[in-house]
Amino acid sequence: MSTRYVFLDRDGVINESPAPGEYIRSETKFRLLPNAANWIRLFNALEFLVIVITNQRGVALRLMSEDDLARIHRKMLVELAAKGARIDDVFYCPHAEDSCECRKPKAGLVYAARDKWNIDLAHSLLMGDSDNDEQLAAACGLAFVRVVDGHLA
Ligand SMILES: [Mg+2]
Ligand SMILES: [Zn+2]
Repeated sequence: MSTRYVFLDRDGVINESPAPGEYIRSETKFRLLPNAANWIRLFNALEFLVIVITNQRGVALRLMSEDDLARIHRKMLVELAAKGARIDDVFYCPHAEDSCECRKPKAGLVYAARDKWNIDLAHSLLMGDSDNDEQLAAACGLAFVRVVDGHLA
């Protein structure tokens, strides 16, 4: 059997969402949702590989740097690891609206992950909290699970 994959949106799935129109700009604002480590440990136990895909337009808007984002993602991985949960890779879009092929619901992040990890999308899953995520899943043939603030919708 080939390896199966789960794509996870970040804000609203793994960590508390920022206020509308806001961004998590520094690791001090990054707070794991209570269920995040549990989901991820379950996927780890099922031997899915876990890949985060996230839009982070705050970089293009110069509200944070890619170094800030790297620090945030390091904190995410470290805090999850402390709870026994492993994320295998992180892909993000730092670009402005309508300026790239990777800002969700465009499929660039999923395709980049597919090409790197040789993913069979038809046997993979996306968990997300937005219509963007649902549209992306439909366009890529991924199963979709809707989450609201870390709870199954
Ligand atoms: Mg989200
Ligand atoms: Zn992009």
